[in-house]
Amino acid sequence: MSNEINLTLKPDFVEQIKNGYPLLLKEFITDWSKVTQEGTIINLRDKKNKFVAKAYYGIQNKGHGWVLSLNEKEIIDKEFFKRRLNAAIEYRKEFYADKQTTAFRVVNGEGDGLPGFTVDYFEGYYLFTWYSIGIYTLKELILDAFKESVQCTGIYQKKRFDTKGMYLDDKDDFIYGDRAPEPLLVKENGVNFAIYLDDGAMVGVFLDQREVRKAIRDKYAKDKTVLNTFSYTGAFSVFAAVGGAKSTTSVDLAKRSLTKTTEQFSINAIDLSKQKIIVEDVFLYFKYAVRKKLLFDMVVVDPPSFARSKKHTFSANRDYVKLLKEVIQITNNGGIIVASTNAANFSMMTFRGFIDKAFKDLKLRYKVLESHSLPKDFRVPEKFKESDYLKVVFIRKIKS
Ligand code: SAH
Repeated sequence: MSNEINLTLKPDFVEQIKNGYPLLLKEFITDWSKVTQEGTIINLRDKKNKFVAKAYYGIQNKGHGWVLSLNEKEIIDKEFFKRRLNAAIEYRKEFYADKQTTAFRVVNGEGDGLPGFTVDYFEGYYLFTWYSIGIYTLKELILDAFKESVQCTGIYQKKRFDTKGMYLDDKDDFIYGDRAPEPLLVKENGVNFAIYLDDGAMVGVFLDQREVRKAIRDKYAKDKTVLNTFSYTGAFSVFAAVGGAKSTTSVDLAKRSLTKTTEQFSINAIDLSKQKIIVEDVFLYFKYAVRKKLLFDMVVVDPPSFARSKKHTFSANRDYVKLLKEVIQITNNGGIIVASTNAANFSMMTFRGFIDKAFKDLKLRYKVLESHSLPKDFRVPEKFKESDYLKVVFIRKIKS
């Protein structure tokens, strides 16, 4: 690339970058004003003008840019992206070979040395998600490299960045090859999911919860009454039902959740008469459940990290303890709570603290049975563990 520019790293941060820290924070550099165009390749140098790393300028919630290479001779061209993409694909070999799971992540941004975008695989189709204007500027190069590395039926994209305060949600996310059927049926550990690649920001399933769904089906659901809160398309409910749950109740505020959840049950030939789907604010549902003295053997709670509804704003960091207390009160003694969060702004240790506080406040005891973070395909850099945002804890409420 011809338009590379040099920027000087502040001395305090040189070692950190040399050691493999991939993110360029604003405070790492004084002369940001030298670079105007997002997507520009930057040569980071120390005070003595010695090369430290190659990066690109791209503003994301995380920072101002990402390191691409620690090798001065490595040119950021199509071949560079081909090398990284091929390594990412190689790392997922076992996923490609597994016929029971046909939806997984192929490129997980910085975890694969390809910071700023992700690629998900859905039964022959690929979905690119771009997280900054900077990386989007390099899109043609990346897509050309991709098409030369992988056989694919079609490609879709989502843009997850702002321009002038507007969230970009194109009417048409389809960009290459053949269009996918709507829905596109994929499998996860033998269970069917209906995927819509061109229907807004979310496609129907969050792939990072694969192992949690499997645990619910294989180890916990049998003969249980299951409540799934913040249920979206009901993926946890479907796995619970397949695992032999006595009944499931799915609660989500969004109107779409009724048809979407019904569809996920139907494509798995699940008896709908034992599955309730409720379109309501979860916080109102808790009040209803307490009033009706409803108790469940298993409650799944997987809220967004931040949400605003008519009556509530919910922030995981601030409100998770309160949320858990509501959940604990409608869980049977000996019952299981699956507490989940994708909030990146607190750690697993903090999350375990929230769980502890909720039970202590209620003067109840609990036992942690297992916990999960991101699965293998959601690869995280060795030197940047804060990319692992997922925290899921299986808790038993102990008889008191
Ligand atoms: N657990 C889901 C993903 C949850 S996504 C899964 O595994 O697929 C978060 C969901 O929470 C969205 O579907 C959103 O509609 C819902 N939501 C946000 N605030 C809510 C509220 N106050 N009550 C009920 N649902 C809510």
